Amino acid sequence: MNSDNLHPVELSSQVIDSGIVNQPLNRFTQELTEIDDGLAIVESFSHCWIQKTEEGLVCIDASGPQTGKAVVESMRAWSQDPVHTLVYTHGHIDHVGGSGAFFADVKDKGVSPPKVVAHEGVIPRFERYRMTNGWNSFINKRQFGGIRPLANFGLGNTVENFVPKDVAEPDQTYRDQLSMKVGNWNFELRHARGETDDHTWVWDPDNKAVFAGDFVAWVFPNAGNPQKVQRYPIEWAAAMREMLAVGAEKIYPAHGLPIVGRKRVEQVLGDIAESLEHLADSTLKLMNEGATLDQIIHEVKLPDHLQEQPWLAPQYDEPEFVVRNVYRQFGGWWDGNAANLKPAPEQRVAKEMVQLAGSVETLIDRALEVTEAGDLRLACHLIELAVTAEPIHEGAHRARAEIYWRRRAEERSLMSKGIYASAARQSEAVFGEETNRKSMRSRSDK
Ligand SMILES: [Zn+2]
Repeated sequence: MNSDNLHPVELSSQVIDSGIVNQPLNRFTQELTEIDDGLAIVESFSHCWIQKTEEGLVCIDASGPQTGKAVVESMRAWSQDPVHTLVYTHGHIDHVGGSGAFFADVKDKGVSPPKVVAHEGVIPRFERYRMTNGWNSFINKRQFGGIRPLANFGLGNTVENFVPKDVAEPDQTYRDQLSMKVGNWNFELRHARGETDDHTWVWDPDNKAVFAGDFVAWVFPNAGNPQKVQRYPIEWAAAMREMLAVGAEKIYPAHGLPIVGRKRVEQVLGDIAESLEHLADSTLKLMNEGATLDQIIHEVKLPDHLQEQPWLAPQYDEPEFVVRNVYRQFGGWWDGNAANLKPAPEQRVAKEMVQLAGSVETLIDRALEVTEAGDLRLACHLIELAVTAEPIHEGAHRARAEIYWRRRAEERSLMSKGIYASAARQSEAVFGEETNRKSMRSRSDK
């Protein structure tokens, strides 16, 4: 409320109307801004939306473990009303991890704690996270650790338990739809699969507003994520169509900016739906013609007019990964290459290739040559063969680090950048120094 930041609705309208972005759209300021009658957003990771009602506050999303406390403080500077209900749009840690702060806020005050409402899939999600705690910490380190400005989003690196111990379990769950009345306010919770299988979007019919969770996030939809469980691009697109069909005029997302005005809502939701539908339809068409995964990922592309939209920027996930997720959803894990059905150990193949090439140096030189020629996809295959055949070869690892830093520099999505950076660092660890990492990184951060 105290900031020099542009009002989120003003910024959003400017960006949508002009198509020009000249400042960050996902802001983690922890600042509260009033958006509508008794409605506020605290911009965080994730945002928390707060609606005043006659019976207390309704909060949508609790933000993450590192930001929950700051969100509650911003909320308390605005309203002292008790929190009546806390809705989780889904069980990702950046939406539920701050719930402990909402409960700490009422401790010893003689006030009843918020009722937590979520889709029924949130509970098995928490169980799955506990079962795969080490794995999740590891992949988040790789996904978020490889890129500077996002630090680690408060995830992974320092969190011992992927689900913090003070996260509140839902008190009430639902399967398809749930109508909730708090004071004079109506909230219709609707389930759809998209980024997750436990997603809720909340419809406020009186204000024609949708609290969209991660269905709208001002980046290319996180429907492809290479290291995580299945996402649902087709159902995601259908949810966009459903929000348009009920007559949404305002979209209040959990990341990025609010969208106000029917035309703007139609533009953004329409583009998200169209891009996911295009990727899914094209992938299924090729699958139905018997194509292999290899053919599909190199053939299916997003149409030009969708590629540069600010609300579809591939900064986090990217279209190629969505194609893979559609293939996985309908096609199983086998990629269509018969050799990959029951493969030889990678090292056996690599050693054979080194022998055919004559020496590991030949492979390394060729990898660097094709790097210079700009074919980084091919260069990565060659250098992987080299280090797999000779895992402690210093020259191979020096070349590998260089190739992956170059590759990272050419990528836009955090998921690719993170994985390539972690590969480069892995090789640097083998030859025991950080070489030119600083200079390479400053190059690649441009
Ligand atoms: Zn999120």
